[in-house]
Amino acid sequence: MTSDNSPVSPILPGAWLGMVGGGQLGRMFCFAAQAMGYRVAVLDPDATSPAGAVADRHICAPYDDEAALTELARLCAAISTEFENVPAASLDALAKSTFVSPAGRCVAVAQDRIAEKRFIAAAGVPVAPHVVIESSQALAAIGDEALVAVLPGILKTARMGYDGKGQIRVTNAEEVREAHASLGGVACVLEKRLPLKFEVSALIARGVSGASVVYPLAQNVHRNGVLSHTIVPAPDASPALVQQAQQAAIQIAAKLGYVGVLCVEFFILEDGSLVANEMAPRPHNSGHYTVDACATSQFEQQVRAMTGMPLGDPRQHSPAVMLNILGDVWFSAGAADAKPQGPRSGATPVIPPWDQVAAMPSARLHLYGKEEARPGRKMGHVNFTAPTLDEARTAARDCARLLHIATR
Ligand code: ATP
Ligand code: MG
Repeated sequence: MTSDNSPVSPILPGAWLGMVGGGQLGRMFCFAAQAMGYRVAVLDPDATSPAGAVADRHICAPYDDEAALTELARLCAAISTEFENVPAASLDALAKSTFVSPAGRCVAVAQDRIAEKRFIAAAGVPVAPHVVIESSQALAAIGDEALVAVLPGILKTARMGYDGKGQIRVTNAEEVREAHASLGGVACVLEKRLPLKFEVSALIARGVSGASVVYPLAQNVHRNGVLSHTIVPAPDASPALVQQAQQAAIQIAAKLGYVGVLCVEFFILEDGSLVANEMAPRPHNSGHYTVDACATSQFEQQVRAMTGMPLGDPRQHSPAVMLNILGDVWFSAGAADAKPQGPRSGATPVIPPWDQVAAMPSARLHLYGKEEARPGRKMGHVNFTAPTLDEARTAARDCARLLHIATR
């Protein structure tokens, strides 16, 4: 063991690994770890969590429960997390006796848009023009001129936002002040709305030795602020852009002294320039294609990184499209137009035609075992792999039509 408890020799299969968070990412982590012969303990307060259901042990307790954290640390040789808003203090407590990756300080940066933007910019990677609004008092002291400089914009809460939640579009200073009040006056970032040509994400894994492996660049399409589908390799990215995005992710990971899987989301603007949006200190929704299209999945890389095992080959062996399945799909034909806030009135839940999805030769269905389908809730995804990207895209389009998923 070193000062940060990082393993000097690899933690071998048979050992227990800990996962803080029991969502779909934790579930897919369990599958990868168990396939390699590790045992997994999941900490999650939800008795019906997707990962708790498949873990070797589910410690059902809040993320800051001292007894539960002690039990997890005692049982596990290494611990990771899948839940972005896990208290960094819990990870720090676990790190006193066990190897925790990514470290609490890395997760803390990604949890706070203000710290995140500061960090990414300091790593030499461009971020969107923005104004930091720490509080209502702070906003009162900011002149309209400073706000107007980043308008029209999007007001985003600094913490706890995901899938477009905690975001309000604003066009003038008065709207900024109203929107900030409606978000409870919490710390926010007012970000300039940029002319996006497309969006990409760079996925890398960095090991305890500091060596990294890099996945192909993924192109992401969002709908209502939620990831709709991912196309890999990114069809619109030039080789130079691919290189630039991947290099930026490596730079950020190196500056963080990061161990684990890291995903950095980028905006590509109309003028071709690249702007970092945010980073995820864990496997990412846009990396789910790796399970069926790459030699080593992002979840297996997380296992390898946290155990000090050699990182796996990230090579993509099939062009791929990942189509997200949101809860809307359960609410009958036409529900794809429903807003994520709730089922349309009168919409009756239906069982989606999974047998027809399974009949598509290029489709691999992944459902997360969530009990309740709600519009906007991530319920699963389908990976399409084919000899050519065009074929994978066509199959994804056919499947989207079958499930009444609007992809534009
Ligand atoms: P997720 O959890 O899906 O990553 P999030 O809640 O963290 O989402 P963001 O990634 O900040 O939210 O934004 C979601 C989407 O909204 C982006 O992928 C992009 O399509 C759009 N968006 C966000 N910020 C901007 C911006 N400054 N200019 C233009 N579009 C933006
Ligand atoms: Mg995002």
